[in-house]
Amino acid sequence: MNLKEKVQKAGVVGAGGAGFPTHVKIDAQVEYVIANGAECEPLIHKDGELMERFAEKVVEGLKLVMEATKASYGIIGIKEKKARAVEALRQAIAGTEIKIHLLDDYYPAGDEVMLVYEVTGKLIPPAGIPLHIGIVVNNVESLYNIANATQNIPVISKFLTVTGNVKQPMSFIAPVGISLKEAIEIAGGPTIGKYAVLTDGPMMGSLEPNLDAPITKTMSGVIVLPAEHHLVERKSRPADVMTTIGKSACDQCRFCTDRCHRYLLGYDVQPHNVMRSLGYSASDADYWRKWGYLCCECGLCSLYSCPEELYPKEACRTSRQILREKGIQWKGEVPPTPHIMQEYRRTPLQQLVKHLGLTEYDQPAPFVAIDYSPQQVRLPLSQHIGVPAEPVIRVGDKVKKGQVIAEIPRGKLSARIHASIDGTITNIDSEIVCVKRETESFLKLA
Ligand code: SF4
Ligand code: SF4
Repeated sequence: MNLKEKVQKAGVVGAGGAGFPTHVKIDAQVEYVIANGAECEPLIHKDGELMERFAEKVVEGLKLVMEATKASYGIIGIKEKKARAVEALRQAIAGTEIKIHLLDDYYPAGDEVMLVYEVTGKLIPPAGIPLHIGIVVNNVESLYNIANATQNIPVISKFLTVTGNVKQPMSFIAPVGISLKEAIEIAGGPTIGKYAVLTDGPMMGSLEPNLDAPITKTMSGVIVLPAEHHLVERKSRPADVMTTIGKSACDQCRFCTDRCHRYLLGYDVQPHNVMRSLGYSASDADYWRKWGYLCCECGLCSLYSCPEELYPKEACRTSRQILREKGIQWKGEVPPTPHIMQEYRRTPLQQLVKHLGLTEYDQPAPFVAIDYSPQQVRLPLSQHIGVPAEPVIRVGDKVKKGQVIAEIPRGKLSARIHASIDGTITNIDSEIVCVKRETESFLKLA
């Protein structure tokens, strides 16, 4: 069995948030393989902890992908400030051709387009992917999972940072499918009464009101914040309110565009123009919407750049959705040319943290080895880009930890799902498979 088949069998998907099935991504011949360890979301530390504690496995995964794709170069992109992880990686790459590329501490250093430019000096064609210029980018946790796949270990657990108003901010490996509530309890539980929960990160993440929602293969963090925190208030606004405020209050100052890292790299992203689309209707608005097409939804414009706290990112997202629904493709200049100020208009992470009102939560979340056996897990059939996996079990079936419970539909882009505990299938619907154990749950912290 080749690497692609092993990775497909293990259900590996992009663990950095996107969830693209990895067996498809590595089925190519490229010049470079880049390990994305940039981890730029404020408060999230799980990739740094993973690289520090499991550097050898990350490097092993990188070597395997380089071999499978016949790549000449393997480079790990990591922030210089993560000194312990950098040192662990240096030891792990000793004697190999793999290099480390140190990054400054700015947001969004982890955007694939930005990282590729930083590491290789190359720009991905607009609306393209790294493969178009002979590059594959894998998140460091995906590489860890690839190394596991070659030892027949499927993706049934997830590295996670749980932080904010919790007793013991920490990073740990959680069984896929446990609830947000359980993840928060593992970190000692909330320290405040009325709180809100953000999944993934403050910038690209979203509020999750349902604490029974499951931890998935792509989730990077769980952040507990006071319900009245300004960031919570901003993220709680309904879409129609965002649009109404934007329509009436945008003064076209352009700060959102002038600080957009993709605009600065030379891509034709102009959120201030997309904001104009809010005042138009039907086809006239499409003229303005096109400047949102290449947006990566990093959130910098809405949560940092706009002095009026408007929502250009959300306007870009809506524009992209509408353009896609209408079948309108991006058209524009190729290739992009970086702006003369590109290097000087980066957003320092510390400045961003302060602006978001998160300084008091900017704390370490060290790795803690846990042994957690939940009483039940809820496994979404869609934890990846593509179509949902198809259940291959029935209600009442007994399953073993690591057993396949949902398969890739024939000929489709999808990823396998495995049981993350031993138990009995108690429910299957169009979205989720539920597995329950007979015995009580237990938690041991190392
Ligand atoms: S920064 Fe805000 S006010 Fe200025 S153009 Fe952008 S959305 Fe409008
Ligand atoms: S969210 Fe805003 S800053 Fe980020 S890429 Fe899109 S337009 Fe640019």
